[in-house]
Amino acid sequence: MTVAERVPLAPLTTLGVGGAARWFVEAADEATVRAAQAWARERSVALRVLGGGSNLVVADAGVDALVVRIALRGLTHRERGGAVELTAAAGEPWDGVVAESVERGWAGLECLSGIPGLVGATPIQNVGAYGQEVSDTVVTVRALDTTTGEIAGIAAADCGFAYRDSTFKRQTPGRFVVLAVTYRLRPGGAPTLTYGDVQRHLAGRGAPTLAGTRAAVLAIRRAKSMVLDDPGDPNRRSCGSFFLNPIVDAAHADTVVARSGDPAMPRWPQPDGRVKLSAAWLIERAGFARGERAGAVGLSTRHTLAIVAHDGARTADVLAFARRVQDRVEERFGVRLSPEPVFWGAP
Ligand SMILES: Cc1cc2nc3c(=O)[nH]c(=O)nc-3n(C[C@H](O)[C@H](O)[C@H](O)COP(=O)(O)OP(=O)(O)OC[C@H]3O[C@@H](n4cnc5c(N)ncnc54)[C@H](O)[C@@H]3O)c2cc1C
Repeated sequence: MTVAERVPLAPLTTLGVGGAARWFVEAADEATVRAAQAWARERSVALRVLGGGSNLVVADAGVDALVVRIALRGLTHRERGGAVELTAAAGEPWDGVVAESVERGWAGLECLSGIPGLVGATPIQNVGAYGQEVSDTVVTVRALDTTTGEIAGIAAADCGFAYRDSTFKRQTPGRFVVLAVTYRLRPGGAPTLTYGDVQRHLAGRGAPTLAGTRAAVLAIRRAKSMVLDDPGDPNRRSCGSFFLNPIVDAAHADTVVARSGDPAMPRWPQPDGRVKLSAAWLIERAGFARGERAGAVGLSTRHTLAIVAHDGARTADVLAFARRVQDRVEERFGVRLSPEPVFWGAP
């Protein structure tokens, strides 16, 4: 195992800001992940796991840890009870897995097309979009438990999946290094078409297929700069949505509606009685416009939820801008937005 020192992390994240990893190793197999964990434990050094860096904000001063970049590859599948269980190594690029499942006619991941990053991160925040979440299909997560050094198979029921959340993100951050994820898919199954934008896009185009649904999702995402396949896109340096949609109790939601003065304010009742609000709507109604900038940082010109770093931006600028958004939304509506990405290092 080769441990490098002071490796810049900005080029390894989609936001493209922040400092270096004090120590850094690339792990292409499980033995290297284990060795990295042992190396860090022996030296009492923190261990951080890096995937595609698309949901990560690294402090300007960098991170005083051993950063393990996950590069494990491989896809296998088996049929089981009429379903297909697809197992992908943590370092597989996520969209390649989605593309493969769609090509083979396996339903379950098609709406998650175009999300950047690697497989290993998908259970961390229960990646979701356009009517699907990975928790709909995850069967097990194979992970190294850094507290014991053992590899465990964690059943979906024990992952604590919730909206953009899981036990990996909330209760035991950093404890597990995800090595592989198994998804249960439906061969020959129909695409999921619960999301209005996708339905509208496919209307009048004949019977919806998995491939058509994937194409629709990619087109919708591209229009919002939410696919990272255009190096010339001025909005490309982001973490996607910077804020979660807030989920508040029903009485709180009513006060937000009253403060907005707009009975048509978008809101979605949740099964537990709480209400999900639209962070993008709140940000816009708090007075922010798409493309609004403060120096080298600003909102995407195509989506108010994405904070974009331009040339010369630093992490401190991104965080200051995010705080401005949070403060103004809170002042106007009494709701504090929570950031979606993970932060590394002292802000
Ligand atoms: C343009 C754009 C659009 C996006 N759209 C969406 C969207 O529609 N829906 C959505 O849910 N997200 C979206 N995201 C956020 C992001 O792509 C996802 O959260 C993705 O799963 C992050 O993967 P990653 O490999 O880049 O993780 P990283 O950013 O590298 O890491 C994120 C977190 O996961 C941890 N982690 C990563 N890999 C592992 C592992 N193997 N084991 C343990 N911990 C690990 C890291 O330590 C870190 O805490 C978007 C981001 C961008 C830039």
